[in-house]
Amino acid sequence: VRWATRRRTRTGLGLWAAALLAGCTTVGVHTRAIDAIEYGPPQTVRVCLLKTADVPAARVDSIVAALNAEFGRYGLSIEVPWVRPWVRPGFQAGAIFEDLLPRELEPPCDRLFALVDRHAGDMLWGLVLPEVLGAVDTVTSTRGFVVATYASLNQVVAGPEAAAIHEFYHLLGCPHGMTLTACYPRIARLKAARDPAADFLPGVEMEQEKHLTTREAANSRLREWIAEQRANGKAQSPAAAGNADASGPAVRTPTPRP
Ligand SMILES: [Zn+2]
Repeated sequence: VRWATRRRTRTGLGLWAAALLAGCTTVGVHTRAIDAIEYGPPQTVRVCLLKTADVPAARVDSIVAALNAEFGRYGLSIEVPWVRPWVRPGFQAGAIFEDLLPRELEPPCDRLFALVDRHAGDMLWGLVLPEVLGAVDTVTSTRGFVVATYASLNQVVAGPEAAAIHEFYHLLGCPHGMTLTACYPRIARLKAARDPAADFLPGVEMEQEKHLTTREAANSRLREWIAEQRANGKAQSPAAAGNADASGPAVRTPTPRP
């Protein structure tokens, strides 16, 4: 059974690696434009966490502290309604997404974020492939994961806190870019789009920047999308919907043949 699993993993690798290398790997550097935007009154973002056993509780605290330090500048404070134990569903980012995306956002969660430990197998792949440090779905920007343990050289460069901040920009609907200049007004528009009656930080269809103002709208949009993909027979497609993030240096390694 183990071998069968590995074999399947290897078959899907070519597609997944291509998706990784196609994108750039930064949401961009800060610019002075950050101060030119009015972000409105403070808001709370409630991030519900799934956590594998190997991620220490202190790491959860340091990640949440790092998120608050970064996103406080937009008047956002990050609260964690709950942390639930979770077993990493598979070896690849695609397998993680297949588990994560169909999960419903339940009240009071605005976002569902998984903190994943690193497998020894990931480190082996890291020698030849860019490592996936995290990903967020681009259909609703409400589900994502980050690798939250220090276990490889590339990760020491980025660090789980920096990787979590990167993914959190995606959870606010910001795509990759060279700078964050285009992201600042997106964050302002996201905050402004909040429906006071809905008790929910809107989800974002990333490409069109369409706001999904209720939890049910975000849940049903994702359900609908998953159903479409399944109808199209693309078994691996939930992964393809994400912004997959590789660590910097390894991105320049050549693609191995599948
Ligand atoms: Zn990214």
